[in-house]
Amino acid sequence: CGIVGIVGHEPVADRLVSALAQLEYRGYDSAGIATLDHGEIQRRRAPGKLVNLANKLSLDPLAGTIGIGHTRWATHGAPTELNAHPHATPRVAVVHNGIIENYRSLLVELAADGYLPLTQTDSEVVAMMATRWMDLGLSPVAAVQATVSKLQGAFALVFLFHGEEQMLVAARQGSPLAVGYGADEMFLGSDALALSLFTDKVTYLEEGDWAVVTPGKAAIRSREGSNVNRVVHQTNASS
Ligand code: GLU
Repeated sequence: CGIVGIVGHEPVADRLVSALAQLEYRGYDSAGIATLDHGEIQRRRAPGKLVNLANKLSLDPLAGTIGIGHTRWATHGAPTELNAHPHATPRVAVVHNGIIENYRSLLVELAADGYLPLTQTDSEVVAMMATRWMDLGLSPVAAVQATVSKLQGAFALVFLFHGEEQMLVAARQGSPLAVGYGADEMFLGSDALALSLFTDKVTYLEEGDWAVVTPGKAAIRSREGSNVNRVVHQTNASS
């Protein structure tokens, strides 16, 4: 339902939760964040209101200067902690808005290679596919490209990778996604409000776009893989 991401220099956990709070108006049934701590993917997730996630984080904080967050409106799988996003393997964590229509057939293919799901969601298949491509030797960026090309349905996706402290990869097909430009940090959000705490310089990804977001830069490519320039808007959402 709601997505945020930060490629930062300062700790991100509290800021991810604050940005998710900006998206509460959309409604949600659970929430979660993932960060990298010394390169390792770490997650906290909780069913119910964001305060449950915030309480969990105050008891068991998450370090890290890069991370992703999600408020979920369940379409596939009950609104439990297990099914809350981010979905992750040791190599990659993913937040997803929308529906992966062909997730069942993708899960059958993955099972044939020994990759089995842990949740009841349609979204987990995205993390599993990217992991399989990386296990086969593809780079994180190539793994995302290979994964997204097989997905049917509507999605906005943001990927966080083990050991990649300075890069998030995002993809958009049928669900909105925006890139925010900070002074020396970069942001992703499912709408400009998610970014409004951080920046008023926003680029909206277009249909089929995907973006490699690193400090100071968003390299945006079309579905076909060619580099594209998208307009940077000055919003007045920033307070
Ligand atoms: N289909 C996904 C799920 O049920 C994502 C739902 C959403 O957009 O929040 O987990």
